[in-house]
Amino acid sequence: HAKNKGKNAYEVFHEEMAHKASKRLALEANLRKALQNNELSLHYQPQIDVRTGRMRGMEVLIRWNCEALGGAVSPVEFIPVAEESGVIVPLGRWVLQTAVRQAAAWRKAGLMEDIDHMAVNVSACQTKDTQLMYEVQALLMETGLPPRLLELEITEGVLMENVNANIALLHKIQAAGIHLSIDDFGTGYSSMAYLKRFPIDQLKIDRSFVNDVPGDGAAIAKAIIAMAHSLNLSVVAEGVETEEQVAFLADAGCDVMQGFYFARPMPAEELEVLLRERRLWAAA
Ligand code: C2E
Ligand code: MG
Ligand code: MG
Ligand code: MG
Repeated sequence: HAKNKGKNAYEVFHEEMAHKASKRLALEANLRKALQNNELSLHYQPQIDVRTGRMRGMEVLIRWNCEALGGAVSPVEFIPVAEESGVIVPLGRWVLQTAVRQAAAWRKAGLMEDIDHMAVNVSACQTKDTQLMYEVQALLMETGLPPRLLELEITEGVLMENVNANIALLHKIQAAGIHLSIDDFGTGYSSMAYLKRFPIDQLKIDRSFVNDVPGDGAAIAKAIIAMAHSLNLSVVAEGVETEEQVAFLADAGCDVMQGFYFARPMPAEELEVLLRERRLWAAA
């Protein structure tokens, strides 16, 4: 960079570090106000049943439009900050509340009949929060949403951080009738032995492997599908963008697909239109 002219490598490095730190602080300060300022919203991305082409579910994805920072901030950027700063606790509670209430409203309108689950992402801090299960169950009681309609997504990395505690938590979730899905599967280090111990319903093949189809990702995706099916788990491929990936995954026996090829994450009003239309995608 021209602006770095005349500075030595250390000075440049130091400035970049300071810049990163102040950016993170700004992010954290604004994030703390995001809830009160009504700057958070939820988007919903359809998940398509490979065999029938129907929408079998949707994943809830948080969006933050921060006025002070001049617009949308990606969850890839702010979720880690929310986790480190503890803001994830009220934020995660808001996500669950908003999503479960939306699902209950759609169900009352008769729009959830074809839908198996609404999937909500749960972060590391939330799994350590002993209140989580009480809150979720209170929410299900309050809204009347059948637990089977709710699916929690926990990343493989989070699950493997504290295996024994997580196995206990997953058993509670399962006993409550809530579905469980392992997110970003293949990026962590779970062995088949661990997978057998986790009471889970589904694996989500990480986007990085789906992106790499055709390529090395293909062999990995096939291996994950075979392993999942041998453990009686269903498989979702995330980040599906091309017709070639759809054809490959369908042929490999993948159960569910999610990605820009089918639909982007969208606001509730737009997803509701697809539900009303009982929109079908061409079965792959
Ligand atoms: P994730 O749970 O693995 O979610 C999938 C991400 O892939 C989403 O990014 C989604 O928009 C994106 N995606 C879906 N299809 C495609 C595709 O075809 N191509 C590409 N390039 N991307 C696709 P998003 O919404 O930016 O979220 C990123 C991550 O942030 C999520 O990854 C999740 O780990 C986290 N996150 C989002 N919402 C929440 C939330 O409410 N709570 C928590 N704890 N984490 C969240
Ligand atoms: Mg997810
Ligand atoms: Mg994922
Ligand atoms: Mg991810």
